[in-house]
Amino acid sequence: MERLVVVGADAAGMSAASQARRRRTPSSLQIIAFERGRHASYSACGIPYLVGGVVGHCGQLIARTPEAFRDSFQIDLRLSTEVTEIDIGRRAIHARDIVTGREWWEGFDQLVVATGAVPVRPALPGADASGIYGVQVLDDAAKLIQALEGEQPRRAVVVGGGYIGLEMAEALILRGIRVALVDGGPEPMGTLDRDMGALVSEALRRLGVDLYLGERVLGFETKGGRLCAVQTAERSLPADLVVLGLGVRPNTELAKRAGIPTGVTTGILTDRRMHTAVDGVWAAGDCVESFHRVSGTPAFVALGTHANKQGRVAGINLGGGYATFPGLVGTAVTKIYGVEVARTGLNETEAARAGFEFLSVVVESTTRAGYFPGARPMKVKIIAEKRSGRLLGAQIVGEEGAAKRIDVLAVALWNDMTVEEITSLDLSYAPPFSPVWDPVLIAARKAWELVEETMLQCR
Ligand SMILES: Cc1cc2nc3c(=O)[nH]c(=O)nc-3n(C[C@H](O)[C@H](O)[C@H](O)COP(=O)(O)OP(=O)(O)OC[C@H]3O[C@@H](n4cnc5c(N)ncnc54)[C@H](O)[C@@H]3O)c2cc1C
Repeated sequence: MERLVVVGADAAGMSAASQARRRRTPSSLQIIAFERGRHASYSACGIPYLVGGVVGHCGQLIARTPEAFRDSFQIDLRLSTEVTEIDIGRRAIHARDIVTGREWWEGFDQLVVATGAVPVRPALPGADASGIYGVQVLDDAAKLIQALEGEQPRRAVVVGGGYIGLEMAEALILRGIRVALVDGGPEPMGTLDRDMGALVSEALRRLGVDLYLGERVLGFETKGGRLCAVQTAERSLPADLVVLGLGVRPNTELAKRAGIPTGVTTGILTDRRMHTAVDGVWAAGDCVESFHRVSGTPAFVALGTHANKQGRVAGINLGGGYATFPGLVGTAVTKIYGVEVARTGLNETEAARAGFEFLSVVVESTTRAGYFPGARPMKVKIIAEKRSGRLLGAQIVGEEGAAKRIDVLAVALWNDMTVEEITSLDLSYAPPFSPVWDPVLIAARKAWELVEETMLQCR
């Protein structure tokens, strides 16, 4: 009988394990999954909502328990067990039970590396002080909630204005804590262009977040080993608690030590079937490097959407089937205080970096017909290649009903459509859902008018 070992038992790892099981019976493939945390198969994406009290308890974020994996899938899931070494030559992994300290080697025929990402922690004075939290895995959320309930902090500073920083800022506000957010960039959400990011700043201010933009954190002040303030070049911000939202990097130390090649983004290199350069070793999720279909370059995008798909692809292939992960276009969505924020493809900086000549348009419209009750404002930005009119990217900021419209543009992007082609799309319409010209179509039309003008000037 063959043995599959999975390292990391969340989105990517357990998708791979489940798909492998669908194709291989327990008598032909034994599956063992190792997870160093106390939880597996959970929604990390739900952490801000758990911290903010929108989701009642941690168990609601767990998709399947170890018992369910054992009984329904015959997958042996071992929690609180860290894989400390992969020996490719011996085809074995070294495991350590975090609770008992027991250590042993476990052989494998096939291996899935799904170790996820690790939060960027700045090497700044005081960064190890107690009271500073990262939120990456469910255990981190549990520690943070314990601190919130036990220590009753009054003032928090969120460092970093990416989507996790924003969602955590809102969660802390919901807990009745005074929140300041510090970001080195001119606006939060650096994955948006500055004009669209400014709308996010407005939403944060309305929420009551004290925003400090264009300020770098220089260190953390402590009193008796405990955090008391965050030091920027401009000021000292009193803080009982800090949440770090400085982004993540692929967690590849284990793979690198084993000689599994990584790429320019430091993620593990795989082919389209999620197979690494090492025979019988697969990788999926936040620990891998992906391919950006618009820029045509390697990309590291740590999102649950990709982790689930890549894990599924790895599991199908190692189970004897055929599936591919054909790359990504960078679609993401979030919400801050009733303001929905979405993006896909390249922003202006990324388009310029990829060498495109491009133009951009921003249109203002509403989520429903203007006269219809509940119509809310929204803005759509489209970035298109200058001469061809090819869609390169899009951003949406607006109120309820705005953000998921990005999916239309993501599909258009996936299929290399021009803004002219988008203009003709047969999208649905009725007054409770959109104006007769959907905001996406208005933006595409404006972009196409600009492309036409440019083409006339070039003649
Ligand atoms: C707060 C937050 C909000 C998010 N919101 C969204 C969202 O709205 N939409 C979205 O698409 N994505 C979101 N994400 C990202 C998404 O959660 C991740 O992309 C996804 O969880 C990645 O899945 P993964 O299986 O690759 O890695 P992970 O979920 O990180 O799982 C990796 C697992 O491997 C374990 N592990 C690591 N090393 C070892 C080892 N040596 N031995 C044993 N176990 C090990 C870790 O403990 C971890 O449980 C969010 C993430 C966070 C943190």
